[in-house]
Amino acid sequence: MRSVSGLPTAVFSHPDCAGHLTGPGHPERPERTSALLSAIESALPAMCGRVKEFEGRHATEEELALVHPEAHIERIRSKAVRAAESNSIVFIDPDTAVAPGSWDAARAAAGTVLAAVDAVASDSVANAFCVVRPPGHHATADRAMGFCLFNNVALAVRHAQRKGLDRALIVDWDVHHGNGTEAIFYEDPSVFYLSLHQAPHYPGTGSRQHRGHGAGTGTNLNLPLPPGLPAGRYVGELLTGIDAALSAFRPDIIFISAGFDAAYGDPLSGFTLTPDDFYRLTEYLKGVAEGGCDGHLVSTLEGGYNLEGLRDCGLAHLRGLAGLPDLEPTRG
Ligand SMILES: [Zn+2]
Repeated sequence: MRSVSGLPTAVFSHPDCAGHLTGPGHPERPERTSALLSAIESALPAMCGRVKEFEGRHATEEELALVHPEAHIERIRSKAVRAAESNSIVFIDPDTAVAPGSWDAARAAAGTVLAAVDAVASDSVANAFCVVRPPGHHATADRAMGFCLFNNVALAVRHAQRKGLDRALIVDWDVHHGNGTEAIFYEDPSVFYLSLHQAPHYPGTGSRQHRGHGAGTGTNLNLPLPPGLPAGRYVGELLTGIDAALSAFRPDIIFISAGFDAAYGDPLSGFTLTPDDFYRLTEYLKGVAEGGCDGHLVSTLEGGYNLEGLRDCGLAHLRGLAGLPDLEPTRG
């Protein structure tokens, strides 16, 4: 068993993620990652060396093919070429845009999560938070949608499996159901997908009845809840769901699809979580990872569209990963 106590938490990012432009007024914009990364940089001196920054890399096409068929990869590339030729943004659907820089950005977002898996698996860091965009959890194997081009967390799971981390638990606390991640692993007993999400809401999937299929029956757990409940209700539901997942499944690595659009004040949704709630959830999952899977824990940014909420919740998440004290007073 490895000891992670002396190792830093990694923040992984890549400058090419900023090249994915989505047009005026689009909530999934480059300022999301730049605001969070600059807040992290300002906070680093006070983090006592417990957090280190790393630059990721592009995923190769062979790596993208771990999840996505060639036709999908080619579609994204050709849309970016078309966007470059017309010097404009090309829309795949009303939500999902491809700009000239999106091919590099999408490969950087995916590859940076793979680099984080490499770092965690090689014991050079304790755990990792990937501040990347475009997000990934709505992308199915063969369809881009919901701001997502490639499914970053699904690619990272397949990459980890190639490194011998065979069984992955994905905890998706983005306020939207990760329909793409669910679909990719729905019949796969080696991956447990757990999602807490607002319902009814985009993309309309995520029923409690959907528990997986075939060999994957029992390794999918959806926790849909209405908007506007007290935050403790959302936190309690997810903690209970994590315990239920772990009673049926023993992971070698845990991934977090960390969407901070579940935070209070997000313009797209109605959940009410505070930075302190994300700290608690993170602390819990870190404990689970250290107790059961050698601390292997990789978190990747999904949604979060209120820049202030994204920054504060992202920082609380990072402090939780690094084992630093929470900054906010805990609710009684
Ligand atoms: Zn979301």
